[in-house]
Amino acid sequence: MPVIQHLSAIEILDSRGRPTLKTTCKLSSGVRASASIPSGASTGKAEALELRDGDKRYRGLGCRKAVQNVNTLLNKALSEQMLIQDTLDAMMLEVDGTTNKSNLGANALLSVSLSFARACSQEQGIPLYTYFSSLTQSKAAFPNLTINLFSGGKHAGGQVDIQDVLMVPHAASISDQLAMSYEVYQVAAEMTSKKYASRPLKADEGGLAPAFSSTTQMLEDAIAAIQNAGLKPGKDMSLAVDVASSHFYKDGVYTLDNQRLSSLEMIDVLGSWAQQYPIISLEDGLAEEDWQHWPILHKHLGKKTLVLGDDFLCTNPERIQKAIKTTSANALLLKVNQIGTLSEAAQAYKLARSANWKVVVSARSGETEDNWLADLAVGWAGDYIKIGSITQSERLAKYNRLLEIESESFTTA
Ligand code: PGA
Ligand code: ZN
Repeated sequence: MPVIQHLSAIEILDSRGRPTLKTTCKLSSGVRASASIPSGASTGKAEALELRDGDKRYRGLGCRKAVQNVNTLLNKALSEQMLIQDTLDAMMLEVDGTTNKSNLGANALLSVSLSFARACSQEQGIPLYTYFSSLTQSKAAFPNLTINLFSGGKHAGGQVDIQDVLMVPHAASISDQLAMSYEVYQVAAEMTSKKYASRPLKADEGGLAPAFSSTTQMLEDAIAAIQNAGLKPGKDMSLAVDVASSHFYKDGVYTLDNQRLSSLEMIDVLGSWAQQYPIISLEDGLAEEDWQHWPILHKHLGKKTLVLGDDFLCTNPERIQKAIKTTSANALLLKVNQIGTLSEAAQAYKLARSANWKVVVSARSGETEDNWLADLAVGWAGDYIKIGSITQSERLAKYNRLLEIESESFTTA
C-alpha cells in the first residue's frame, strides 16, 4: 500500500494568469507525481470553496494560504502511513472539518487528492485512466467530444446572455472528431469575421465571441458553419448548449435577449431551440435555485436532450440525490473541483450512474497544462467530455492526451 513521504505545493498560474496550485506527492517507494488544479469563473453557489489569500497580491486571488495548508497541515497529517484514495480523501475532510472545505481550501485538498492518484498509478505501473477506473469500477471508454464553437456570458464580453454553443461531432474516433471540429471552427471564424466585420475575439475557453444580435442568431450561425463546412447538422455534427442561466436569473425572472421570462416561458424557449436545432444537450437550462421548475424542464425535454446540471448540481452528491428523487435532470456535468476530492467526485459519478444518467466530464474556464482530465473521462467512461475550443495549450493538453490514449489503445488492440 502506498505511503506518502512528502507533499509539497507551489503556486502556479492558470490560463487566465490567476494563481492556482500544483502539488507534488512523493511516495516512500521514491515515485513522485504532480497535479495542477483548475478554477471556474461561472461558478455555482454550492461549489466547495477555493481558498484565496484576499490580500493585495493578485487582487486577492493569491493561493499562498492554500499552498501553506498542503505544505504544513496536510503534509503532517498524511505522511508516513499506508493510505488508499478513500482513506486519504476522508482524512483530508476530517482535517478540514467544514462542509465546503473553507478551512483548508478545496484547491488544496484536490491538488493532494489528484497528485496522490497520479503517484499511485505510477507506483502500480498502470495508466492514470486505469487507476481512475478502479475507483468507480468502471470500464474505460472514450467520451464523445463537445467543443466550444461560440461563447457569450461570463466567458466572453456578455455580448449574448448564454455561455456556450458547442460542436458535438459524430465520428467514431477522437482524431476524426477533432479534424471535423477544426474545419467547422475555421469556417465559423471566417464566416463571423466577415459577417460581424471584426476579428474573431476569443472567450476564456477559446470559443468565438462575435457581436451576435441574439441567442437565436448564435444558434443559426452555428448551423450555417456546420453546413458551410460541408457537414450535415444533426447527422455529422450536433450542438450542445451551455445556457448557464443562473447568471441571467434574478428574483424569479430570466432576462434573455432583453426579454423578461418566467421559468415556464424559459422552458418554452428551450423547447423551441430543441425543436428547431439538433441540440443533444441543454446545460443549466434553468437557474441553480429554480428547483421547482427543473422537474418540468426534465418532463418536457428529457426525452429529446440531456437535461444537464452544472451549477445546478455542483458535482455534489446531496444535490444529485435530490435531483434524482425529484426527476429534475438526466445528466451530470462532472467537475472535480466543484466538490474538492476525487473520492467525493467518484461518489457523485456513481450516484448519477445509479439513476442511469449520462455523465459529461468537464474542464473549467481557468485551466492549466495538466492533462489528468482526459484520463478521468476515459477511466470513468464519460459519455461526453467538455474541454473548450481546440485553440489554446491548456485545452490542447487534454485533447492531445486523448489522442495519445487512443493511439495506445489502437496499437495494443
Ligand atoms: P466555469 O465554466 O469553469 O467558468 O465555471 C464552465 C461551465 O460553465 O461549464
Ligand atoms: Zn456550465
